[in-house]
Amino acid sequence: MAIQVLKPKFHVDECLEQIKECLEKGWTGMGFKTVEFEEEWKKYTGHKYAYYLNSNTVGLHLAVKILKMNNGWKDGDEIISTPITFVSSNHAIMYERLKPVFAEVDQYLCLDPEDVERKITDKTRAVMFVGYGGRVGQLEKIIQICKKHNLKLILDAAHMSGTKVNGVCPGTWDGVDVAVYSYQAVKNLATGDSGMICWNDEKSANLTRMLAWCGINKDTYARSNKGTYAWKYDVDYVGYKYNGNAIMAAIALTQLKYLDEENARRREIVRMYNEGFKNNPLIKIVPANYENECSYHLYELMVPDREALLDFMSKNDINCGVHYRDNTEYLVYDYAKGTCPKSHEISDHLITMPLHMWLTDEDVKKIIEKVNEFVQ
Ligand SMILES: *Cc1c(COP(=O)(O)O)cnc(C)c1O
Repeated sequence: MAIQVLKPKFHVDECLEQIKECLEKGWTGMGFKTVEFEEEWKKYTGHKYAYYLNSNTVGLHLAVKILKMNNGWKDGDEIISTPITFVSSNHAIMYERLKPVFAEVDQYLCLDPEDVERKITDKTRAVMFVGYGGRVGQLEKIIQICKKHNLKLILDAAHMSGTKVNGVCPGTWDGVDVAVYSYQAVKNLATGDSGMICWNDEKSANLTRMLAWCGINKDTYARSNKGTYAWKYDVDYVGYKYNGNAIMAAIALTQLKYLDEENARRREIVRMYNEGFKNNPLIKIVPANYENECSYHLYELMVPDREALLDFMSKNDINCGVHYRDNTEYLVYDYAKGTCPKSHEISDHLITMPLHMWLTDEDVKKIIEKVNEFVQ
């Protein structure tokens, strides 16, 4: 069988044990394991608030929506974002009728602080920072810029489950208003689909709870009439059905136990790759800062002829990938075409190497050998 580019490894028996508990208890929806997982995630990351959702995409939507509500942003206001990301980061901005303004990426494929500052206008309200491949990039500088210009900072932490800096989760840094994680099927902490939104303020965290569950507010009745009035609640907002469920949380709880161990293996594979490619003058390795604590969701190379290499690898039963195509090439973002020429150029040469728990050292050696055989 061909080597896949991304492939989750589930701890099947333990996952089934956790799921079985849900089924026997007759509790597969919101609550029970979802609350347990929120607590475990807070313990693991140090986030003060965490709310379990059915995806990162909906979490990013709520992040933008709540910031817009709380700060009186207007339709057409701008959020500076990256063109090298999965489209959800930018769709979340569009859902709320705000405008993604694209800035260039740096050597880590994260937002370049200098270009971000250049793209600020009097309509800029926030920055959407993607921790590309688990990298922290120049997040510290972006935080400084946001503080200086009074902008909010949303961290799309879809790739960052397990990334730390000196033992601290960057999503918890002062200046990050909200961090959103993904537990989608091929992410480092894989479930089927789910995600987590982590605010640093209680007001937004509470609002999230309501907006993610159809705008339902149980608080007033729950406080005064314990139990008896369970059916009686207020609906304060036209909210959404964005909450996560106990089955997914059951898988997440199991997978979380192995996250650090698995990320350590990812780093081991990355070291082998780096060693294997460092002497090839035609290959550029995408570096990570804080590489000893990076979650390495993705391992990227830049090569002269990406399409040809993809083809060659596939013929050798090795599936590589592309993360990501410059978003301004897509119809919905083509108003911004040409605004990030450097990122566009980078995107044309990016290729994603396989990186996951199923890879043996032999696989990694074979991949290195094949890439070096072709790129010369
Ligand atoms: C996967 C991903 C998302 C979306 O996550 P879902 O949980 O699938 O909604 C958002 N941003 C980035 C950078 C991603 O890789």
